[in-house]
Amino acid sequence: MKKSIIIILIFICIICVVFLNLPEKQVMEKNEENIVQVPEKKESIVIVMNNTEENRVKLDDWRITLVNKDNLLPENYQITLADIDDERKFDSRAINYLNDMLEDMKNDVKDDFWVQSAYRDPEYQEKIFNEKKQEYLDDGLSEERAELLTSKTINKPLTSEHNLGLSVDFNYVNTSFDETDAFKWLQENAEKYGFILRYKKEKEDITKIIYEPWHWRFVGEEHAKKMNELDMCLEEYIDYLNK
Ligand SMILES: [Zn+2]
Repeated sequence: MKKSIIIILIFICIICVVFLNLPEKQVMEKNEENIVQVPEKKESIVIVMNNTEENRVKLDDWRITLVNKDNLLPENYQITLADIDDERKFDSRAINYLNDMLEDMKNDVKDDFWVQSAYRDPEYQEKIFNEKKQEYLDDGLSEERAELLTSKTINKPLTSEHNLGLSVDFNYVNTSFDETDAFKWLQENAEKYGFILRYKKEKEDITKIIYEPWHWRFVGEEHAKKMNELDMCLEEYIDYLNK
């Protein structure tokens, strides 16, 4: 009898030890899981690591090609153009996003709006720039002065985002466009189609371009959403991706 009580007691003890140890073990396993997958505590580290890899891919992304005064259109930049209408053209890889946006805009916006300008041929721009510059050179001006004066009236070749075929200008290319329903609609909806307001008033110092409510740039849906979320212009966003 005594012996069996001792055996039962030992058995109970073993069970107790196992049960007491179990929660600790489970917590450890959970913690190990946390390190690898569960965001909680390790979130910032995981995100930074993921972003680093993602960013390398993103920076090769044609949708966020940066063209401005300091970043000329990449040499031999090649695109296939598609027609927006009889006159205007857009990058064929993004034309469906533009068309979808314009169609939905037409359904929702009562006032008249239209695409005034889209793709611009960089060769043509270069030609007219050089012709004008030559006039100044013929007048005896220095190379530097001729270039400066020309660039006051004509965009320097290869520095316009329109050369990429990923931007559109609306209506009269005028600041008052931001008072229209079309502008309000774009502000609310453009990111769903991958478009952003490229030259914001509060980013003039960075873009070095005045506020242009009429100018909308395709960057793709995920970039557009992220840029709006971070409140970054393309220059800032590319910097952010580079880090
Ligand atoms: Zn424009």
